[in-house]
Amino acid sequence: MAQKKGSSQKLLVWILVGFALGIVGGLILGKDNVIWVAWMGDVFIRLLKMLIVPLVFSSIVVGVASIGDPAKLGRVGLKTILYYLLTTAFAVTIGLILGNLMKVGAGMQIGEGLQFTGKEAPSLYQVFLNIFPKNPVAAMANGAMLQIIVFALFFGIAALMAGQKGKLVLDVMDSVAETMYKLTAIVMWWAPFGVFGLIAKVVGTKGLAILLPYTKVILGVYIGVILHALITYTGVLSLLARLNPWVFFKKAFEATFTAFVTRSSSATLPVTMRVAKEKLGVSESIASFVLPLGATINMDGTALYQGVAALFIAQVYGMHLTLSQQIMVVVTATLASIGTAGVPGAGLIMLTLVTQSIGLPIEGVALIAGIDVFLDMARTALNVTGDLTGATFVAKSEGELDENVYYAE
Ligand code: ASP
Repeated sequence: MAQKKGSSQKLLVWILVGFALGIVGGLILGKDNVIWVAWMGDVFIRLLKMLIVPLVFSSIVVGVASIGDPAKLGRVGLKTILYYLLTTAFAVTIGLILGNLMKVGAGMQIGEGLQFTGKEAPSLYQVFLNIFPKNPVAAMANGAMLQIIVFALFFGIAALMAGQKGKLVLDVMDSVAETMYKLTAIVMWWAPFGVFGLIAKVVGTKGLAILLPYTKVILGVYIGVILHALITYTGVLSLLARLNPWVFFKKAFEATFTAFVTRSSSATLPVTMRVAKEKLGVSESIASFVLPLGATINMDGTALYQGVAALFIAQVYGMHLTLSQQIMVVVTATLASIGTAGVPGAGLIMLTLVTQSIGLPIEGVALIAGIDVFLDMARTALNVTGDLTGATFVAKSEGELDENVYYAE
């Protein structure tokens, strides 16, 4: 154990070294030469993605079967979804308050001939219907996370109901899940190089000067993210779960930081699950259900960013948002964040839903598209930290948190 702790801390140090070198490397190499190191980051993302489907499927099947009792399953599901919805709505509210107070868009010039040519956001009806898989193999091949979750839930319950005949399936899944956790640890050895490549690519292609005119909106999102963690997550952990929140943040850091650099909740999911189980002491059954669901529908950072961004766009165009329009933002941003995929840049596309709902010009979205990468980092980090807070809270309330692991040095 002592050795394990030592090596995981060493890994974190190397990841931070990779980050720092990535900034320097990106600045030195610049747009044209960064390709020489960018591959390291792309390989890292691919390796992480490689883990997701087998890991999520097997661990949910095992998790559902180990909960066993359908009443408990329902209760855990309800609690998780309620937690996710409430914290997300709270996050947008923080975003709106900061957007108002900091006047994030004031003084910004509107560029000439702006046009936003992102993909069109799916309708909420499509988002709803997409929960249900019509072909589980296609769902896995396409990495359609919600559909995989739904199929795995049914599959696990059915295997349990099949009794003796279903036992073999569950044993095999258990073995697959354990193997995938090991594989996650192996992939993380590449993390320092991956982080180096990812950061060098962002800094090299974008440069840092691009950030200057956007200082206020960037600060708005980053301050909001920190406040949400400090107020909401600290509150949930200390008041509701009665746990020391600092221990949580320290242990969650590996996942938070992986999310920051990969800008993808889905790609980070294997790391999130490993942190929950091995560092925070969340049981397999809770982690395997709450976290994949969280990586798919719980996006506090995205919602918060949409709150700030809506005000940014309104202020740039000199429009005043009334209270009822801002309440509308809370509702649509919460729903839009549920429909946002856990992949880089998805939140920007869903922002069009929010701007449309209150009649803001859609071209406004183009205003922040150029720096979205930097905002995506912060919001994804918060998204994943929120998932882990949810898993810890639900586990504690169900008596499924091993506090010896949580407080272990
Ligand atoms: N990149 C975010 C995530 O994966 C989603 C977003 O773009 O807001 O969590």
